[in-house]
Amino acid sequence: GHRLEVAANVATLDDVKAALASGAEGVGLLRTELLFADRDAAPSEDQQAAEYTAMAEALGRDRRFIVRTLDVGGDKPLSYMPLPKEQNPFLGLRGIRVSLAYPDVFRTQLRAILRAAPAGNLHLMFPMVATLEELRQAKALLAEEQQRIPRAVKVGIMVEVPSAAVIVEQLAREVDFFSIGTNDLTQYTLAMDRGHPRLARQADALHPAVLRMMAMTVEGAHEQGKWVGVCGGLASDALAVPLLVGLGLDELSVSVPSIAPVKAAIGRHRLSECSELATEVLRCRTTAEVRQALVQFDEAGAPAKVLT
Ligand code: PEP
Ligand code: MG
Repeated sequence: GHRLEVAANVATLDDVKAALASGAEGVGLLRTELLFADRDAAPSEDQQAAEYTAMAEALGRDRRFIVRTLDVGGDKPLSYMPLPKEQNPFLGLRGIRVSLAYPDVFRTQLRAILRAAPAGNLHLMFPMVATLEELRQAKALLAEEQQRIPRAVKVGIMVEVPSAAVIVEQLAREVDFFSIGTNDLTQYTLAMDRGHPRLARQADALHPAVLRMMAMTVEGAHEQGKWVGVCGGLASDALAVPLLVGLGLDELSVSVPSIAPVKAAIGRHRLSECSELATEVLRCRTTAEVRQALVQFDEAGAPAKVLT
């Protein structure tokens, strides 16, 4: 009787169609970066509004459609938004910080999203939020654009910087929902580059510290009556799905090929067993212990007793 939504991570209208054909119940993450890539100038408000509207129409009014505002910087530079050369780009201007540094580009995107809102169940999400001030600044710009285009949208943030997980109670009073980005949350919690060839094996979202950040996020958000999803790669890992269910996540947004395996993994288990598994796993001391517990659960269909 327990339901959680299985949504898709997409970048294009074709992805949306493929997601629907594969059984997605919505879009939990539209990465809008692709719209902005390989161009000499940012896409216009009309171009963006047309894209978001076409996707919203394909999804219909009932399926949730979460549009993440532009997430560039560091690893994803754009020629028409020159960023200063930084020694440490992953700790520099990224995500919402870039949008706040380029308010014209940001406002244009916000207007395009607001124009598309009536076509579907549109939700707006800000990436890489680290402080309450960033959220408030972004929301203030949104409120100004809503004076011009008076459309209501739900507003959420990604939890992918450890500070956001730690102050989730404060953030939860000012947003409608959260989505945990385990890719960045892992790299920032462990201080290990997510693409580093030597560290890739250790930069694992199943590290106990990352899992505790996730548990804190769910607890703090639920206290304020706000829902929490996961749109990072961990949600697409069928082995991790019972744990995510047990941690109390409300939505899993996954890659299109993972929709069916993730749904199947959810259907195989009871909520009570998943909750027990989560309790066991939160006692684990190392990533290896977590993996062992998950593998044993998967094989036995019940929580493994891990060493404590
Ligand atoms: C993440 O960080 O987990 C995430 C979903 O965002 P991206 O992979 O686009 O950085
Ligand atoms: Mg991210």
